[in-house]
Amino acid sequence: MADHAFDDQECDYLFKAVLIGDSGVGKSNLLSRFAKDEFRLDSKPTIGVEFAYRNIKVGDKLIKAQIWDTAGQERFRAITSSYYRGALGALLVYDITRRSTYENIRNWLRELREFGNEDVVVVLVGNKSDLGSLNSRQVNEEEGKAFAETEGLCFMETSALQNLNVEEAFLHMITKIHHVTTQKSL
Ligand code: GDP
Repeated sequence: MADHAFDDQECDYLFKAVLIGDSGVGKSNLLSRFAKDEFRLDSKPTIGVEFAYRNIKVGDKLIKAQIWDTAGQERFRAITSSYYRGALGALLVYDITRRSTYENIRNWLRELREFGNEDVVVVLVGNKSDLGSLNSRQVNEEEGKAFAETEGLCFMETSALQNLNVEEAFLHMITKIHHVTTQKSL
């Protein structure tokens, strides 16, 4: 598999992070929101993933975040090991209007911890918060928060549709990765 030829000369760090969670929870929409104008979507069709880059300044360092999305391949286990390999962070996404997607986060977390980096930074994301005030909510915000606390994860509810907390969720993950990485190299 040819590595992506991207000019990363000018950045201080290049991080890989992954989006995980059941199909339909909003991963692709979250990613395109975050990548915005700097959007550079690419794909590795051989393993069925897409990724986007965005440059972020943390302190005086320039970080290039490479974010991978499963491109609808969640059900195909063949992507597993190469998808997770080298990932320093993950947004673990469920849909607050579909309880089964929340119940599945344990499985995603288990897989991430099995195949990913040992200090992988995880932000748990309850997406579709724009539907939260309607009757369609099936997972309370407190449940997400409590689960995240017991697992030592960060937690946020987002709306990709209304662009609420999307930037915050990604930036939180990236800043924390930067922190973990620099602490380790001290
Ligand atoms: P993926 O399979 O996890 O990548 O999910 P997609 O990004 O393809 O989104 C699945 C569906 O949910 C699409 O119909 C989106 O328009 C919808 N969707 C995604 N994010 C939101 C959101 O924040 N609010 C609402 N109401 N719908 C969303």
